[in-house]
Amino acid sequence: MTLSYADFQAIAGKLKPNGQAFIDGQFCDAADGGKFETSNPATGEVLATVAHCKSADVDRAVAAARRVFNAGTWSRAEPEHRKEVLLKIAALVRENANELAVLESLDTGKTITDCLHEIGAEVPNFFQWYAELADKTFGKIAPTGPSALALVVKEPAGIAGAVLPWNFPLVMAAWKIAPALAVGCSAVIKPAEQTPLTALRLAELIREAGVPDGVLNVVPGYGHTAGKAIGLHNDIDTVSFTGSTEVGRMFMRYSGDSNLKGVGLEMGGKSPFIVLDDAAIDDDLIEHAAMSAFWNGGQNCSANMRQLIAAPLVEEFTARVCERVRAFKLGDPLDPGTDIGSMISMDHKAMVMDYIRSGEDEGATKLMGGNSDLPGHFIEPAVFQNVTPGMKIAREEIFGPVLGIMPVQSAEEALAIACDTDYGLHATVFTRDIDRAIHMARSLPCGTVSVNGFSEGDIKTPFGGYKQSGSLARDNGTEALAQYMQTKTIWIST
Ligand code: NAD
Repeated sequence: MTLSYADFQAIAGKLKPNGQAFIDGQFCDAADGGKFETSNPATGEVLATVAHCKSADVDRAVAAARRVFNAGTWSRAEPEHRKEVLLKIAALVRENANELAVLESLDTGKTITDCLHEIGAEVPNFFQWYAELADKTFGKIAPTGPSALALVVKEPAGIAGAVLPWNFPLVMAAWKIAPALAVGCSAVIKPAEQTPLTALRLAELIREAGVPDGVLNVVPGYGHTAGKAIGLHNDIDTVSFTGSTEVGRMFMRYSGDSNLKGVGLEMGGKSPFIVLDDAAIDDDLIEHAAMSAFWNGGQNCSANMRQLIAAPLVEEFTARVCERVRAFKLGDPLDPGTDIGSMISMDHKAMVMDYIRSGEDEGATKLMGGNSDLPGHFIEPAVFQNVTPGMKIAREEIFGPVLGIMPVQSAEEALAIACDTDYGLHATVFTRDIDRAIHMARSLPCGTVSVNGFSEGDIKTPFGGYKQSGSLARDNGTEALAQYMQTKTIWIST
């Protein structure tokens, strides 16, 4: 049944979000009683008081995670049992999708339409997909001679830490929790301080599904408190981080300064959207161009904010993209008619507005948008033309609704500009020539190249970044399992 704006408002009215930490199967306060507030960025309304976890709480969570890991109730459970429990989590998320989506929308300012898609469809699919892998992941037998039998065995890495961003809170939690639990790890998760509520509600559903106490722990807090304590913990075996490149660097240092834990990093981007001169500027291309930039209000690591358009097409492209972007409706994120919600915070809005001013100061032409004189933390999507590769808005990750269009004279020029960045997360290429598509895809140093449509792939395909967008780790696909598994050789002389 399709729900209306009034239905979502009614669900919101009944929510009683729980901001307590979830440690060893119980909701609890931080050891020192510390708290912070999380609020709705679209209205400023406080949604909940949240436990501010610090190193003592992370210690408690890790101790519980280690106890149950060593006991083997989850780590050495039959894979069929872990599969069954993860399938139950998927079912519980589906059953509670409307409530979770409303909570996510309130805590992030994301549109209810996006939240419903992410939480009604994607999140349960992640749990289902890794559930199905739990009893289908094999080791290997090495080709030895007759004097030995060599087994290459996969084992759960132990305690997995995860530190998450605010832009896709429950999706990011599921990206980490589902593969970690599927292989038998215990986990300690820190949601972003701006958006802790859905991860805490998920923890309750995970308990209801039958995951033993201590296997999943959620420690809300700030980066310099709970995040740093996870990074530096001597009994966490591997940490998976998604967030900015600046903080990703810290996790490498934390590892070096503590127990050399494994570090998986998924970080920022400045991704190109390339239209070659043989492409057709049709409705489909324009839709992908607009969505690649403005989906989630541009607060997306793979947002395609540098649009490099073949010079003969740039005028038509620019006019049509602006026309499409003008049709985006800003408004209450809970209204299913809203296309673009709120920026995550006042500080973030101010930072995005600084970029818009810098674009104007450096000589780019703002064709539309950029108005922030609206209630809440909203910014109208901005489109710039006459952007040159050296400008700040062409080089830095803005993480807000600011698109820069640049004409290019050739595919090689587009490639040169696209590659001239420290990031390497994503790229889109539009061309009707398969040889050119393959050439571009092979030449772009980034984790995902999307041809003739903007896509990040799906749960079956690995997601991560080259260069300073990521480490060698990947989320999603069978590749994600590597972040949570050890490889052991058992060499048996025969
Ligand atoms: P952020 O790096 O500020 O924060 C991410 C997480 O790190 C939060 O939980 C935060 O509390 C924690 N943190 C902050 N400072 C810390 C510290 N000193 N020590 C330990 N932990 C610390 O990022 P954000 O603002 O939440 O998210 C935006 C960034 O995330 C963007 O750069 C975006 O591109 C990136 N991102 C990447 C992906 C991806 O898969 N590659 C997905 C989503 C977001």
